[in-house]
Amino acid sequence: MLARVTGHQLRLFNSLGRRIENFAPSADVVGLYSCGPTVYSYQHLGNMRPYVFADTLRRALRWKGIPARQVVNITDVGHAVADSDTGEDKLEVAAAKERRSVEEIAEFYTQDWLQALAALNVQPADVYPRASAYVDQMIEFAKVLEDKGCTYQLPSGLYFDTSKSPGYGTLAMMDIAGQREGTRVEIVEGRKHKSDFALWRAEEPGARRVMRWNSPWGWGAPGWHLECSVMSMTLLGDHFDIHTGGIDHRELHHVNEIAQSEAYLEDGRPWVPYWLHNEFILLDAQKIAKSAGHTLRLADLVEMGYHPMAYRLFLLGGHYRSQLDFTTAAMDAAQVTLRRLAIRVAPLRPLPQVETLAAARSLLGVPVDATGAAVGRDASARAAADDNTAIAYVDAIDAAIAGDLATPKLLATLQDALRDPNVTPDGLKVVVAAADALLGLRLSELKPAEVDQRRTADDLAPEEREEIERLIAERTQARMEKNWPRADEIRAELDALGVQVTDTPTGPTWQLR
Ligand SMILES: [Zn+2]
Repeated sequence: MLARVTGHQLRLFNSLGRRIENFAPSADVVGLYSCGPTVYSYQHLGNMRPYVFADTLRRALRWKGIPARQVVNITDVGHAVADSDTGEDKLEVAAAKERRSVEEIAEFYTQDWLQALAALNVQPADVYPRASAYVDQMIEFAKVLEDKGCTYQLPSGLYFDTSKSPGYGTLAMMDIAGQREGTRVEIVEGRKHKSDFALWRAEEPGARRVMRWNSPWGWGAPGWHLECSVMSMTLLGDHFDIHTGGIDHRELHHVNEIAQSEAYLEDGRPWVPYWLHNEFILLDAQKIAKSAGHTLRLADLVEMGYHPMAYRLFLLGGHYRSQLDFTTAAMDAAQVTLRRLAIRVAPLRPLPQVETLAAARSLLGVPVDATGAAVGRDASARAAADDNTAIAYVDAIDAAIAGDLATPKLLATLQDALRDPNVTPDGLKVVVAAADALLGLRLSELKPAEVDQRRTADDLAPEEREEIERLIAERTQARMEKNWPRADEIRAELDALGVQVTDTPTGPTWQLR
């Protein structure tokens, strides 16, 4: 039995048009641009999702044998407070607050972010360009737009005239007229349409920016959207295949990137054909946003005893286009699942090196042609061969990732395989290695003891458990007898053991802190 002869067509949800489409690369190497962080503070947990998502996409391309080059920008200038066109630069505000130079601020938070990416096993991008290094190119780009008559100058800077962009707002599916005259809150003196945005932000008379460049429109700094158009085209070429980012960018930042880039190129082609966006993480049913005061970050989770891979697992447990509720219960569950995976996979090590569908199939004795498509069974292939169950699991893994990066399905397939008595040990090794080439959970090396620094009730010895339950029963008795001092004393004892007691209408429950 051969499950499938060819791999599954990679299909991705394109925000441009809001539908799932076959992915067809336009070049030998797929250009992939992912909007990166503004490095003025720590990146909170929600901020990390776009990079794990883009990493999953890269792993999917690699799995399909499609070479990719990824650029992730680092915004160290130009991003004003509240994403606005006027007002102070986020970096300069942070520098003033922390009494450090903007360079120190940018360097410190860039390094912290890169460390978090490494901890999450996100593969490094090919290039991490810094916006401040591309200001000359941004000025040149804006000059071209000015020469084409797509701009107008105000005392506050140079603005892009969105009425000159015929397809303006297509990505956001916005009502153009409504958006132009609509709800944006910022009032800019003299701006022709509310959707018009700054290409250059001029210094206000008497005010001197810390980061400033001279331009045909006076001293100042570039507008926020300009950097991504300029750096992506410089590093990936005028057109490239995929642009990713958080869903908040779909409505403004990416709309403006497209408008200025297509006006600049004016070649009648869509600038970038595939736009992919990840949804938010919700913390207490609110978007985790620094502006709302939530700054929970990966380092905090690690401090709390969670493994960084548990957070990656938590993210992959939801589809990238679904909002995910971040709760401690969900993190606990992810940590337990990760630990169980590590325990289950440990006896299978060393795992084979598998990065592509072609490699997985070849190890399972399915001959492959250059494209990774199976061309029939080779009866002489033996290693882990003749394991049709393993072949079927690899096919299911391929189907899951090819179907718009369905990581929850992929995880479920891995779990099924690990429980399936019909898979041979050699076949199972290939399946696990294949799944982890896409999940990136470091299953080839992760030690169960490394996962759980923090104990849960399951880790207690029976005697410890008995002791805790005896104390809780004694406390309940003391409370019934209204012996409050004794009840408090026991609670303190439980506290010292790291046990947290919660009184509920049906009696006390407990857990380890
Ligand atoms: Zn961007």
